[in-house]
Amino acid sequence: MKTVLELNDKFLSKLVNYYKPYQEKPNTPHIKYLFKTDEFTINVYHSNKVLFQGEFAEEEYVKWTKVLDIKPDLPKAINQTAYMNEYYKKNVIGSDEVGTGDYFGPVVVTAALVGPKDYPFLSTYHIQDSKNIKDEMILKIAPHLMKTIKHHTLVLNNKKYNQLVNEGYNMNKIKAYLHNHAIKKLRAKNVEYDTIIVDQFCSRQNYDKYLIDQESIKQITLIEKAESIHQSVAVAAIIARYTFLKEMDRLSEEINITLPKGASASVDAIGKLIYLKHGKDIFDDIAKVNFKTSKKIWD
Ligand code: MN
Repeated sequence: MKTVLELNDKFLSKLVNYYKPYQEKPNTPHIKYLFKTDEFTINVYHSNKVLFQGEFAEEEYVKWTKVLDIKPDLPKAINQTAYMNEYYKKNVIGSDEVGTGDYFGPVVVTAALVGPKDYPFLSTYHIQDSKNIKDEMILKIAPHLMKTIKHHTLVLNNKKYNQLVNEGYNMNKIKAYLHNHAIKKLRAKNVEYDTIIVDQFCSRQNYDKYLIDQESIKQITLIEKAESIHQSVAVAAIIARYTFLKEMDRLSEEINITLPKGASASVDAIGKLIYLKHGKDIFDDIAKVNFKTSKKIWD
């Protein structure tokens, strides 16, 4: 969270008085006052600009907009408040998957660890439900997230996917398997966490059933639309989407045709083109062959 207010001298002295107990010596000359707690940091510049940062910066900022009787300008804060729920103060491993609705390309699952200490960093990237973020933006922000946020990503390539389907796995069983495995891999990186959240795609009963022959992690919570419940899931979704996009680029380059995402008429059309050029066998390496799309392309 990061917000700015500009104060006149009168209100500035009020503010300085109010935060006096938290005053610290500024470490750079262009800061006039510095106030610091575990929950927020307030920098006052010589221009009388006041910068609120930290986990609870928004509360402090809103307090002063009330004193000043102005409307709070909180474009970045809206998403943040959406995340203020029972998980907000916890270190959470969140897991999400992409590619399951796309005919071409892999299924990707990412598990990511996010806690309150990550919020100031994440607030600069407007973390939100990845379905509302354009792919160009995903490509820009994901590398930063991947550098800073502990995570583990699994890519199930098409060959392996098709093999599993032939062995009798359905999509949900594949998802359950990948989530469980990604979480295990992240946990093995010696991370400290309080809770695990998986973006829900089936009932708990089925989830456990799918993993009956696996060494599965039981201490997980399945939550619907979890991307908007905890930022760990939102970050996981962004990293997974990024990985998916990169894989699509790689596959497109390999066959020299830009593979479309999703499953639509243009997917059918490109599919036909690939079929005419390369035949049927190549689909095992680039597509989820059990999708209805295959029939449309081959018949
Ligand atoms: Mn999801």
